[in-house]
This record gives sequence, structure tokens and C-alpha cells, in this order.
Amino acid sequence: MKVAKFGGTSLANAEQIRKVCDIITADPERRIVVVSAPGKRHKTDDKVTDLLIAFAERLLRDGEAEQEIRAVIARYREIGQELGIPEQAIDGIEKDLRELLTLDTSVEAKFLDRVKAAGEDNSAKVVAHYLNSIGVPASYVNPWDAGLLVCGKYGNAQVLPESYERLRALRDREGIVVFPGFFGYATDGSVVTFSRGGSDITGSILAAAVQADLYENFTDVDSVFAVNPSLIPQPKQVTELTYQEMRELSYAGFSVYHAEALFPAFRTGVPVCIKNTNNPTAPGTMIVSKRSYTSTNVVGIAGDAGFCSIYLTKYLMNREVGFGRKLLQILEEEGLSYEHIPSGIDHVSVILRNDIFTREIEERVISRIRTELQVDDVQVARDLALVMIVGEGMRENVGTVSRAAIALADAGINIEMINQGSSEVSLMFAVKDRNVKKAIVSLYHEFFGRSRVLYDEVLNLSLDGLEEQERLPKEVPFTTVA
Ligand code: ASP
Repeated sequence: MKVAKFGGTSLANAEQIRKVCDIITADPERRIVVVSAPGKRHKTDDKVTDLLIAFAERLLRDGEAEQEIRAVIARYREIGQELGIPEQAIDGIEKDLRELLTLDTSVEAKFLDRVKAAGEDNSAKVVAHYLNSIGVPASYVNPWDAGLLVCGKYGNAQVLPESYERLRALRDREGIVVFPGFFGYATDGSVVTFSRGGSDITGSILAAAVQADLYENFTDVDSVFAVNPSLIPQPKQVTELTYQEMRELSYAGFSVYHAEALFPAFRTGVPVCIKNTNNPTAPGTMIVSKRSYTSTNVVGIAGDAGFCSIYLTKYLMNREVGFGRKLLQILEEEGLSYEHIPSGIDHVSVILRNDIFTREIEERVISRIRTELQVDDVQVARDLALVMIVGEGMRENVGTVSRAAIALADAGINIEMINQGSSEVSLMFAVKDRNVKKAIVSLYHEFFGRSRVLYDEVLNLSLDGLEEQERLPKEVPFTTVA
């Protein structure tokens, strides 16, 4: 059996939902369907989840949000009517949404999660009603009834291990199960959502729980691309990736599949296939535990800004027993998780995400590092981006670092830090954030080949905020690297 998850753009309007239902009915193995809330119908449109957040914020601020809830109801009403689902069912959805106005708002985060979850919840009801209306037996299944229990903070749920056993029973249900993505329930019955984009996580949990043969993740692109297509038009499509490669690429900015959604599938060995609702016969990208990689050294290049580093020096640091523990303890006590810790004999850098390292926390952490660790110097740099080159094949290929370093040097980009993960699946460079796009493009050209047409566009793009001497030379020989 297959678990199929459909993202927001696949459910944005009635026409898209019809496509989704055609896909479901085209393969009798697609027995469990996970849905997102309706997404954008066009570029400037709003996602229902964002409308719901706007509603919640207004209600918290002004004690009323009639206009905001009407905007959400209108989206479902339009979809429901165009699909021809019974008026009674549409009224039920309206009633459910109006109930949001009467919720207890005293714990804001709890209230917000309950509101956000209504997007997916009602989307699942719409799809189930529509399937039944076209003669396909289907039922909406509520995550509490099915046993999807979670813990963790509001907006950042983590699945509880016992959920898998309970959810396994979904295998034996008659007809198609339509399950809302994005949220589960705490053991006290309150709704807790996963982080944004978290319907992918629900799909992966269900696929693992029922031991599906395949977890299909339907989105709006034909495949995973080797680089962000907003940087390089029509980049190379990736047909196969390992879980680890996808994990590294998601970490560094690939948004096609939620980074946390890999784990449940990976743990149970369920292969994942990224497919396009608008082109369902295209093969998509398979994410598997092992792939043959003799011909492909690097599979993808990703980069993300928004990092900072705390750089510490202390003479004879390497001889001081417990230095690392004390440093990490300070971070732990401030509730900070770190991303990387490259180190030398007398210095160490800790890379963190900028958004969690607020100015207020920075002040406290730096003062504690000075007094408790007695360092010679400590500095914070806030303008870092991480660029990752990813590929299992790097383990067995010589020269990847040298090619990457030369490509960055030729583009006039200073490498602030290099880190090759111990797994050798990825190679990470820290660069100044203003250089991140240029770095990604230069590396893409090095590993996947250059095209003159693309180059001009990229040249314009990479000029943003760069000093004259950092610009790519205008006349670069046309080369294709195999
Ligand atoms: N609707 C939620 C969001 O916009 C979850 C999802 O689409 O996966 O983040």
C-alpha cells in the first residue's frame, strides 16, 4: 500500500482537488491520503494557514476577527460549491470554523495551534466528501481518534513513539483514509502542530506506522532539483537521492520536502517519492536508503543565510580538560542548540542560527564565556551563510574540495570556514551572507556545467551588494564540467 500526501498548492482550489482525487483513484494502492490546507492559487494569493494565523492574531489583539474568519470560510465555501459537495457538509465546515471565535485564548500558543490545525482538518473533510460524492468510499479520520499523539512545544510537535503502534490500525480500514496533516494531539487532548510545512511529517509518520511500500509526496514540481530553481533556470533534475543526502539538502535550504519528515520513513526504510500533482506521470525523485553513485559525485548544492558564529580563543585550549563541556553547558542553559563546532588548537567557533541568538541572549552568553571560561578573546559574527555540496559519491571521489575551493576563489569569494562532515556526505562552506547566491551559482557551474544564457542572468543576480573586486569577471570561458 501507498501513503500519498498532497501539499497546499495541490488543494488550492476545486480544479486542483479534482486532480488530487484523479491521482488517488488511479492507483488502488493509494489507500491513505494526507492533505495540507489549501495553499496559494496564484503568486499573490494567501495560504489558508496564513489566513488562519491572521485571524488568530486579530482575535487576540482586538477581541474580534469577523472579517478574517469570513475570508477563511469563503475559501472553503468556494471550493465546496465548485466541487458540488453537499451544502450540509459546507455548512458543517463553516460551523467548525466559527467555533474558533469562541475558543479560550488564555494560552496564546495553544489557541494558535488549534486555529492553525483547522486548515488541514477541514481540507481533509472536503476531500473525503468529494471522494464519496464521486462514488469512491472514503472517510475523514481525526488524528486523535487514530492515535497520533505528540509532545513538545506548541508549533513544534514531536511524535510520541507509541503513536506508531496505534496508527498501524489504519491499514485495516475500509475505503480511503483521508487524514489531515500538520498536527497531532498532546495526551491531554490539546492540538499541537508540527513546524510550518509539517504535513510532510504527518505523511511520513503514517507511512512508517502502516509500513507502506511507498510514501508519495505530491507537490508542484516535477522533482527535486540539484539547485534552487530560482537561482538557475531549469537546473538538473535529481532522480534518486539517499535519505542522508536529502536531509543535508533540506537542512541547507531545499524546501521541497520538510527536513523532519525524513526521519520516520528513514527509520523504517519506507522509500519516499517526490511527485508533481500537475504532472503525475513524471517519475519524480526517489529518496531511498542506498543508491549507486559511481557516476554522480555531487547530487545537489544548497545554501542558506541567517547564521552567526561565536569565535573563542584561549591559549592552550586543547589541554584544558572540560572546556568544551563548560562552553556547551552555557549554551544549554540559555536554551540554544548549535549547528556546527569547527575547532583548532587554541580556538573554537560555534555556529548558531541568528534567529535564536537574540541580542539579549548574546549579551548574557558573551559575558558568561568571558568570566566563566576566562577566554583570551570572544567575537560574534552575524552575517554568515552556509553553502553545502552534497553527495554520497564524495566519499570515493578525490578532489571535490579542491574543485569547490577553486570555484569559490575564481568567483572572488572568501571562505570563512570549511567543514566536511564525518560522514563525508556533505561539504560545508561558510561565506558572508551577501555572497551566498554567487557561491551557490559558482559551485553549480563547477559541478554541473555552465551555460552562457544562464550565466548572464546569474551575473546580474550576483552583483547585489558586492564590491567591485568581488564580481565575477565578465569574460569567463564557456566550459562544461562533466
Ligand atoms: N499548512 C501548513 C503550513 O502552511 C502545513 C503544511 O502545509 O504542510 O505550514
